[in-house]
Amino acid sequence: MRLILIGPPGVGKGTQAALLESRLGLKPLSSGVIFRSEIDADTDLGHLANSYIKRGELVPNGVTIEMMAKRIRSEEVRKAGFILDGFPRTIRQAEALDTMLLEMAMPLDKVISIEVDDDVVISRLSGRMGCTKCGEIYHSINKPPKREGYCDKCNSPLFVRSDDQPETIRERLRVFRENTAPVRDHYQALGLLEVVDGSQDPEAVYEAIVDGVGI
Ligand code: ADP
Ligand code: ADP
Ligand code: ZN
Repeated sequence: MRLILIGPPGVGKGTQAALLESRLGLKPLSSGVIFRSEIDADTDLGHLANSYIKRGELVPNGVTIEMMAKRIRSEEVRKAGFILDGFPRTIRQAEALDTMLLEMAMPLDKVISIEVDDDVVISRLSGRMGCTKCGEIYHSINKPPKREGYCDKCNSPLFVRSDDQPETIRERLRVFRENTAPVRDHYQALGLLEVVDGSQDPEAVYEAIVDGVGI
């Protein structure tokens, strides 16, 4: 299965990708997660990416496409398929992906657009916390950990992303509207789009995705 999850920051893409992985064995490939691990590992790519991420801007297309292409072309991903989360985020990235998948004879099954109003994503991003070790996603109100500040699954400390601050959030929503909304329309024109109402609770969103994909 080859899926794309598209939607504004904070709509729940990472949360749904994790559910699809644990329940259906699909393999998430998140550009944001990959960038953050490059930043943590102090690599040149991490330094470059961080200079954009901390301002809520997009990392340039060239390096982003190269980074994702390397993974999409890997033997493992060819065999297992993928759920792309956070990529493609621009028309140029979408066209590069389409070309790559065409060359590999690996067509997309569906593109799922998770949609909600801005006020919902702002409140979701404002309480988001993530596990430093396993990546599990929490929320201070919607999904609090059992022990404050620590992961239910692996007991490691939780962290708040430095780009989940009010000013950066506003910029990321603007960037989404300008650059990523056209990607949604691109896949709609190709007949691949399924729209899911992201304002429901995570289980209902999950059901809607599974329904939309037809699995
Ligand atoms: P994205 O990957 O799209 O940026 P996340 O999956 O990280 O979004 O979710 C953003 C925040 O919203 C997290 O704190 C998460 O726990 C919470 N969240 C995700 N889905 C829902 C939902 N359906 N209802 C309420 N809160 C949610
Ligand atoms: P969210 O789902 O909350 O928007 P992500 O973890 O997907 O956050 O992305 C965090 C940041 O990483 C983005 O704001 C952007 O700076 C950068 N980034 C992630 N994916 C891409 C991409 N495909 N193209 C350019 N920049 C990206
Ligand atoms: Zn954990």
